[in-house]
Amino acid sequence: DHVIFSGIQPTGIPHLGNYLGALQQWVKLQETSPATTKLIYSIVDLHAITVPQDPQQLKRWKREAFATLLAIGLNPDRSILFFQSSVPAHSELMWILSTTASMGYLSRMTQWKSKLSLPEDTSPLDGGSKSKLKLGLFSYPVLQAADILVHRATHVPVGEDQSQHLEFSRECVTNFNHAYGPHLVAPKTILSPAKRVMSLQDPHLKMSKSHSDPRSRILITDSPEQIHSKIMSALTDSTNSVSYDPENRPAVSNLLQLLSHFDPQGRSPEELGVVYANLNLRNFKTTLAETISSQLSPIRKRYEEVMAEDDGAYIDHVQRKGAAKARESAEATMAIVREAVGLY
Ligand code: ATP
Ligand code: MG
Repeated sequence: DHVIFSGIQPTGIPHLGNYLGALQQWVKLQETSPATTKLIYSIVDLHAITVPQDPQQLKRWKREAFATLLAIGLNPDRSILFFQSSVPAHSELMWILSTTASMGYLSRMTQWKSKLSLPEDTSPLDGGSKSKLKLGLFSYPVLQAADILVHRATHVPVGEDQSQHLEFSRECVTNFNHAYGPHLVAPKTILSPAKRVMSLQDPHLKMSKSHSDPRSRILITDSPEQIHSKIMSALTDSTNSVSYDPENRPAVSNLLQLLSHFDPQGRSPEELGVVYANLNLRNFKTTLAETISSQLSPIRKRYEEVMAEDDGAYIDHVQRKGAAKARESAEATMAIVREAVGLY
């Protein structure tokens, strides 16, 4: 039977990249999977602290992230929703995996370099004892592997930026199983059609929660006015017309891709480039902003309802129930792992 696992960091309200690349897929899987498929979705707070966080802000973000999962349509009676730190087995398995994980492999991962704005060829030992690279940021992929493997996930829906980490998770399975026997399950990656949504301010960067410029991303709870103003200020180029040409017009082509993902008729960016060829950029952007607003408005409404009715008690109640189910799922694996390693 299938087990779906995925996670999102509580580092801000999810944006269109998170939504189109991952969250929308989570809901689709909930709607289309047979009852025998286990669905497990985590707010990965232990990952969030691999870069500096303000503790009060992190608490707020955790609650907001939980509310967004409910707002997009995840049903806590069908999908297990929980905070990663409520299930200590994630950290325990991470430690065990780290004893068979390769430093060399981790050194080649790109995320720790991009989070610290370091060049691609940086070694983890550059910078000596004053290095800005912390052990937790470096070993992030091992914790992510543990998140997945502790639930024996068979499929993991993520954006393309996580493909590398999924590959590493499979490597962790190989290493562990080689040492201790065939106990862990190798997960498959599920990529959505919108596998890499780009920043509105730089078509060569992915849209991110943690980028310093809030105009680079549209949040799934943004108001129509906010969406309008962010789209209007989105980077374009000096040609005041619409055409789909990713090579020469990356910024305008990104906007066409966004429109395509939200197009009720499901037209491709190429088709939309032809449909809107006669619009100037201003009118095209207005159309795009209206399309996004109308598709996000039910999510925004539900989010506001959840946040308004909730004084913290409802989300706390739902998360406790989810955490209990997730602990049960994780414990089943940990019993096998501890036995195999000789810890029992
Ligand atoms: P941060 O900047 O804090 O890392 P993030 O925007 O990268 O935040 P994550 O919580 O790290 O978001 O990732 C949650 C999920 O969203 C992952 O599956 C990731 O692959 C996906 N995702 C993130 N950004 C994009 C994007 N621009 N396009 C498509 N998918 C994305
Ligand atoms: Mg990220």
